Amino acid sequence: MNKNTVLIVDDTAANIRVLAGILSEEYEILIATSGKDALHLLEVEKVDLILLDIMMPEMDGYKVCKALKENPQTSKIPVIFVTALNSADAEIKGLHVGAVDFITKPFNNVVVQARVRTHIKLYEQSLLLEELARKDALTGIANRREYDERLAMEYNRAKRSRSELSLIMMDIDFFKKYNDTYGHGMGDECLRKVAKAINSLPKRVTDLFARYGGEEFMLILPETSQQQAYKIAQGIQKVVRILAIEHKASDVKSYITLSIGIASLYLGEDQTPLRLAKAVDDALYKAKENGRDQIFLEEI
Ligand code: GH3
Ligand code: MG
Ligand code: MG
Repeated sequence: MNKNTVLIVDDTAANIRVLAGILSEEYEILIATSGKDALHLLEVEKVDLILLDIMMPEMDGYKVCKALKENPQTSKIPVIFVTALNSADAEIKGLHVGAVDFITKPFNNVVVQARVRTHIKLYEQSLLLEELARKDALTGIANRREYDERLAMEYNRAKRSRSELSLIMMDIDFFKKYNDTYGHGMGDECLRKVAKAINSLPKRVTDLFARYGGEEFMLILPETSQQQAYKIAQGIQKVVRILAIEHKASDVKSYITLSIGIASLYLGEDQTPLRLAKAVDDALYKAKENGRDQIFLEEI
């Protein structure tokens, strides 16, 4: 198993040596001798906990901690203050800027190890919870919550940078009949297969594929025109067709098909995420109305 990484920030070599000695068996140790160095290092290294000296020249521990908490990239990493100041004031100030705990000099090995272990465990648990809260339990892809947040974010970004943004909404045709014919368990399995197939298509890091509702999926495509989105939708249709999941009760084909709606936001156009969502929903509705197993592109 990979070791967790602890960053020790201290301007005194002797302190670093002692702390590293206490922790190096259990953890990967990184060292910074100033606040600035620590902030630079955190731009490139993944760190699970920071031991931060309070008294350092230039940038003291409080300032470093404040900077860490203000940066979304580092704000969640637990910070334990290391200090000789055994005073309630120092502790209050430390907790105020976001530290989770204190370790005072001279160090007690067992206490240092126990506190570090506890806070790394809590940190990992909170990361895991956060990840689970954004995932759909059945398919493992992003869930509605993640989708809503991302759409709001990408909408704002598209507006700021006057760039395009497309949405693709997919809905399985006659899925109620599928459940009625093959059972709910097979229905779940079908949803898993369809999600996996679509998710395996190549995409950009900024794209988001999510389960929107029961048998509805959504794809957020930043900086993508309607024409590009149309090509992607064709790829989605194809990959689901290749799965060839039997659906005898379907009125369109004898296998699982999708109806797909597309809507786009154009260069600086003043809409809202809600209107974009409504447009893509309308497009999907038209694809259904026109006979299902097809793509409808909402013209703007
Ligand atoms: P249409 O072609 O108009 O989309 O018809 P449809 O039957 O697919 O649509 P409808 O909205 O009537 O039914 C959706 C069905 O999807 C009903 C519901 O039981 C099923 N469903 C929703 N979520 C799940 C799920 O998690 N597992 C399973 N097995 N079925 C689900
Ligand atoms: Mg539906
Ligand atoms: Mg459906």
